[in-house]
Amino acid sequence: MPVGINMLEYKCAWYSKQLLVVSARNTSQICSACGQNDGAKPLTIREWTCSKCRTHHDRDINAAVNILNCGLKAIG
Ligand SMILES: [Zn+2]
Repeated sequence: MPVGINMLEYKCAWYSKQLLVVSARNTSQICSACGQNDGAKPLTIREWTCSKCRTHHDRDINAAVNILNCGLKAIG
């Protein structure tokens, strides 16, 4: 388990929230709109446009949407 998960588990239990741990792997390179993997981008790239559907992404927001979708898929 990554460092910090115990504290999150504790806080979620305290507030009666469900904690779902998902892999952040590739979440910053996959288009949250169409699923296209545009490959690794240096951390200095804060925004990018999907080569397939042309959606313009903020790097962090796109990754967050991918992580959310991952979690929603996991719980069905
Ligand atoms: Zn796309």
